[in-house]
Formats: sequence, C-alpha cells, structure tokens
Amino acid sequence: MNDLVDIMSVSRDEMASWMQQQGWTRYRGDQLFESLWRHRVVSYGQISSWPKDMRQKMEQIAPFYRLQTAAVQKGTHGTRKILARLRDGQQIETVVLPHSYGYSVCVSSQVGCNMGCNFCASGLLKRTRNLTSGEILDQVRLANDVIALEQRVVSRVDLMGIGEPLDNYDNVIRFIQMAHDSHGFNLSYRHFTISTSGLIPDIYRLSQEKLPVTLAVSLHAPNDVLRSQIMPINKAYPIEPLLRACKSYFDNTGRRVSFEYALLDGVNDSNNMAHQLADLLQGFSCHVNLIPWNPVPEHPFSPSPKKRVEEFQRIVQNRGISCTIRKELGQDIEAACGQLRRHEEELLSP
Ligand code: SAH
Ligand code: SF4
Repeated sequence: MNDLVDIMSVSRDEMASWMQQQGWTRYRGDQLFESLWRHRVVSYGQISSWPKDMRQKMEQIAPFYRLQTAAVQKGTHGTRKILARLRDGQQIETVVLPHSYGYSVCVSSQVGCNMGCNFCASGLLKRTRNLTSGEILDQVRLANDVIALEQRVVSRVDLMGIGEPLDNYDNVIRFIQMAHDSHGFNLSYRHFTISTSGLIPDIYRLSQEKLPVTLAVSLHAPNDVLRSQIMPINKAYPIEPLLRACKSYFDNTGRRVSFEYALLDGVNDSNNMAHQLADLLQGFSCHVNLIPWNPVPEHPFSPSPKKRVEEFQRIVQNRGISCTIRKELGQDIEAACGQLRRHEEELLSP
C-alpha cells in the first residue's frame, strides 16, 4: 500500500477522524463508509453527492482496489462459488450459500493456510499472506453483488473459507467490527462464526473481546494420537488444554461452542471413537457438527457411509450431547467445507 492509506480497512470512526485531518468534515467519513459498504461503489466517481474536486483528491491520496470477480460457479440449490482476484494477482474463493432464513457467506481469511491438516484442500498451498480486513469485508460485498438481482443481502458470515482466521487475528477482529457497523453491512455479532483449528492463546484472547460471535473448533478426532496425525497443530495445542480454552470461551461469552468433526471412513468414525468423543465433551454445554468428509482428490481419504454417520450421531446424542449432521451444499462445484483452495495465478492464466 506504500504510504497510501488502505481505505477499505479503515473503520467508520477512523474514517471520520481521517477526513477531519484532510480538512473535510467528519460527516464525510460516514458518507464514505456507507458508499463503500452499503452502496457498494467501485470508484470515487460513483459518490455523486461529493464535489468533483474532492473525489479527484481522494483518488490520489486514498485509491482503493476492489476484489475482482474472476469467475462465479453456480451449484445446485443456488450455491455460488466466487473466484476473487486480489490486488496482487493472487486468487481466493468465497462461497454464497442459500438457507431457509436467507443467505450466508463463507469468507476466506488468508491466501493459503499453514496448518497442514491432511484432509483439507485449503492447506495444500501454504499461506502466502494474510488478507487485510478490507479484503475479507470485500468478499461480503461480492456475495451481495451476486444475489443483488434477487434483492437479497447476506445475513450470516462464516469464517470457514481458506485460511486459519485466528492466525490473522487482528484483521479478522477488525473485519467483524466493520461488518457489524450499522452504516455498512449491519450484521449482528451473533451471526458470525469463527472456525479454528484450535489456536489456544487466540481462543483466550477472543473470549475477552466482548464480541458474542460463535466459536467453532475443528476437532475431527477424540484423542491426541489420531488428532496429531491428521491435524499437525495438535502437537502444539493438544485436546485437553484446547477444551479448557473452549470452556473458558463459553464462561466468558455465554456462547455455546461448536465442535466440527469431519467423518473419514475407517479413520475416525467407529463407535468407539464416538464414545471417546462423548467422554471428552461430557458435561460441557456444546454442540457437535458432523461433516461427512468432502472429497479432495489430492488426499487419500473417503467419506464415511451415510449409515456410519448416522450411527455415530446416534451414539453421541444418546450420551446427552447435542449433535447434528451438517447438510453440505456446494460439493458439485467444490465449494463445500475444506474444498476451497488458493489459486496460483499462472494456473489460471489463459
Ligand atoms: N481453518 C479453519 C477454518 C476453515 S476450514 C478451521 O480449520 O477450522 C472449515 C471447516 O472445514 C473446518 O472444520 C475444517 O476442519 C473442515 N474441513 C476441512 N477439510 C474438509 C473436508 N475435506 N471435508 C469436510 N470438512 C473439511
Ligand atoms: Fe487450514 Fe482449516 Fe484446512 Fe486445517 S482445516 S488446513 S486449519 S483451512
């Protein structure tokens, strides 16, 4: 960004102060924030209520770069996967998902992921950088553009796309605060879900933010031996202290934690594993989300058969733990959980 201000990552309050420093009124900050996020302008030229010389000056001192839609794929049931091109040419994916209540968007937080979980497509390419708050926020704008014809806007945001959100902590928190702003997308904090592979120090930090967002923790195995095999991060942050952090999150926020568990045929889906999982979570007010594993050609796993998934659910439920099977949308366009990936620019060049 050189010395230029990254206006897309600036909060409304900061925008107002910045406008004042430039010799304009604070109100211009509100106008700019609303133009960027409520009206979704793509250039200063579109802010028609501003004098021309002001628009020109802003173009010079605070030019902004919107994410470019490189492609949109439409799946069954109205799921859309957007391939978005960043300022530096890198490409990430964002998914818009239809539900009975309206639309949600699944946003990426990093370009690639360093956590190396061996069942996931997002980690196949290492992280090259964090997304800025503005780049995460701009994915919500792209999603709203895609459903604009239906006169809809997204009402929920899942940080479940490419990347480990808590590995880009500051930008993610700023993103959530900006997306919550009533002059912008006006999204309720309760409508955000942060999914994490379990970065314990950051879970504690998040529990102090006073943001009532939902925390989803990718567990995927009920013991350390197996979890370390499929999620290398478990060696640094094993299950027992991870669960302590989750309990502290619940105690501090009152928000029930979700545990994600992707069922891999013959790996983590036995009755015995279901009982181990129930043992672990006994007495903790939480929720388990079972995800039949979504195929990633580079990885050697198979999804558990439907009957196995149902039996696993039955065992966990019978042990008094709330447990649902996630309805996966977007498999047909590789837009389901764990199927999103960073794209190398050269691979996509014509
Ligand atoms: N990095 C974060 C968020 C992105 S992944 C995390 O790991 O939590 C979103 C969810 O999809 C996580 O629960 C992740 O473990 C899960 N996932 C990854 N690959 C998957 C796959 N192939 N099938 C089903 N779920 C998968
Ligand atoms: Fe990264 Fe999450 Fe995929 Fe693990 S599951 S590699 S943390 S995106």
